[in-house]
Amino acid sequence: MRRLSILVLSCVSSAGASGVSPVEGGIGIHALHQGTSSYPKSSIVEHQGSERVSLDWVCWYVELGEHKLLLDAGIGAPAVAERWGVEDWASCADRLRERSVDPAAITHVFITHGHFDHAGGLLDFPNATVVMNRSTPSMLAQTTGKGVSDGVGELEEEGRLVLTEGDQVVLPGVEVIHSGGHTRGHQAIRVSSSQGVHIFVGDACYTVDLCLAGSPLPTSVAVDTTKNRAFLEKLSAWLDEGATVRTMHDVRSGSR
Ligand SMILES: [Zn+2]
Repeated sequence: MRRLSILVLSCVSSAGASGVSPVEGGIGIHALHQGTSSYPKSSIVEHQGSERVSLDWVCWYVELGEHKLLLDAGIGAPAVAERWGVEDWASCADRLRERSVDPAAITHVFITHGHFDHAGGLLDFPNATVVMNRSTPSMLAQTTGKGVSDGVGELEEEGRLVLTEGDQVVLPGVEVIHSGGHTRGHQAIRVSSSQGVHIFVGDACYTVDLCLAGSPLPTSVAVDTTKNRAFLEKLSAWLDEGATVRTMHDVRSGSR
C-alpha cells in the first residue's frame, strides 16, 4: 500500500516536467568522503567505556535521471573541521570538483538534519533547491552559524527552499522519511530506481554495521529514542526487501 501511494505521487509530480519518470534510468551513487576523525564510541552507540573509533564524514552525490542530488552538505568551513579533528578534510563542493562535477550542476541538496556536519556546506551550490524538514531552519543559527542561517532565509526568498513535513515525495523516486529521533526534524532519504532502493539514513545510525544490526542511538545523541527505534524497524523491513543502506558517517554501503 505504501509503495502504491509513492508510485502515484511520483507520477503526479513528474507529469508537469518531462512526463517521463527518470527513476527508470540508471542511478549513480558516489561517496564524497570529507575526511576521518577519531570519535568517542559512546557517542555513536550505547557504550560505557572511553574507547574511540574512526569515523568518516560523508556527503553523497547521486545522479538520478535528469537530477543531480547532493545528500547532506557536510561541514562547510575548515575551522569547523579542525575543531572536530577531521583529518584530510575537504568540503563536499571541493570533493565534487575533484570528480570533475561543477557544484553549480547540483539540482537539489537534501539535508537530513540541521547539525553542522550535515548542513554546514549548504550554500555552496548556487543553483540547487535545498530540501529540509520544516523544523530544521530554526536550529541552524545555533548549529551552523548565522551565515548559513541567513543564507537559508535568502534561499526561501529566491524560491529555492523546500520545507518538508512528515514523509514526502520530493522528486520522482526520491522521498524524505521523517524519523525525528536524532533531531526533531531528522529525515532519511529513500531513493528508488529501477536498479534498487537506496536508503540514506543521515544519523539515524552512524555506521553500516550499526544500521544492519538495528542498534539504536545512545540516549545522549537522541532527542527521541522511541522515534529512532521506530525508524530502525522501518529500515529493517526495507533491508529485508532488498534495499541498500548508507549513512553519513561511513563510506561503505550495506545490504542483507
Ligand atoms: Zn553527523
